[in-house]
Amino acid sequence: MIDKPVSCWVEKERLNSKIVDCLTIILRTRGCSWRKCLMCGFSISANVSEDDLKKQIDFAISKYGVRDVVKIFTSGSFFDDREVSRGARDYVYSLVDKKLIVESRPEYVFNCDCFDLGFELEVGIGLETSNDFIRNVCINKGFTFEDYERAAEYLIENKAGVRTYLLLKPPFLSEKEAIEDCIQSIKDCLKYSRTISINPVYIPKNTYIEKLWKAKIYRPPWLWSAVKVLRRAFSEIKSKTNNKTNKNEVCIICDPVGAGSVRAVHNCGKCDKDISSAIRKFSISQDIKVLENLKCSCEKTWRKYVNVENTARFNVISELGGE
Ligand SMILES: [Zn+2]
Repeated sequence: MIDKPVSCWVEKERLNSKIVDCLTIILRTRGCSWRKCLMCGFSISANVSEDDLKKQIDFAISKYGVRDVVKIFTSGSFFDDREVSRGARDYVYSLVDKKLIVESRPEYVFNCDCFDLGFELEVGIGLETSNDFIRNVCINKGFTFEDYERAAEYLIENKAGVRTYLLLKPPFLSEKEAIEDCIQSIKDCLKYSRTISINPVYIPKNTYIEKLWKAKIYRPPWLWSAVKVLRRAFSEIKSKTNNKTNKNEVCIICDPVGAGSVRAVHNCGKCDKDISSAIRKFSISQDIKVLENLKCSCEKTWRKYVNVENTARFNVISELGGE
């Protein structure tokens, strides 16, 4: 099956404040060269050739056709030659019309070979958090905020956009610490980002985070936490951009993958569908009103949970991680 992508579909994306179709392809590659993050569950397929990658792309295109925006996910870095060869990348470039979105670890951003090809480029970087302690001790990500800044500045200099991925509730953080970490990270990466994507943790099989979850010392975040982070982020973006003239505003999005399941971001079970659909609506419309007046009795439980859980901990992050 190495000549078929992991998955492909059409979804909505924003392009110059319009909502357009986006062909999204998850390529089956030989895997991320780092492969040490504690919540990473991407499978590894050895021996995927350039020809296989081209066939995977052809498969997606024969199914859905090329759309205004093309988004390519790999299990790691699009610009890592070992993962996606130069020839396979050129093949992708030849198909893109208006905009290409890919993802890469910071170290491979400097290998980018598609500036000035006539389409808009946005590169997703999985920063996860702006806090080096959390990123490297709790997630084992293996790069610093400074590495991210350098890569982001390089992309901006070359007129590409930066899509910063933040992880909501890395392992070992309490719900409250996770909310605060995410809000702080948004503030820190705002000036580099065209899009900030908040990714609530999903627990894949056979991962370190699954062990923590099975031992009942980790619960994926609440949807209420995601709503809180998005609302704070939105007001942060508004307060930062109001003073500037006609500057394109930063888009804040969240894809609550698997929302409602015990392995994913969830609330009480009754409201999960409504809240996650409001989050998706907000992500595409950037209309904060859809996140107002959301109600369920479990909101009270969440508030209690956030406070009670935290009183049982001393503040690990501030004690050990500086800040
Ligand atoms: Zn509820």
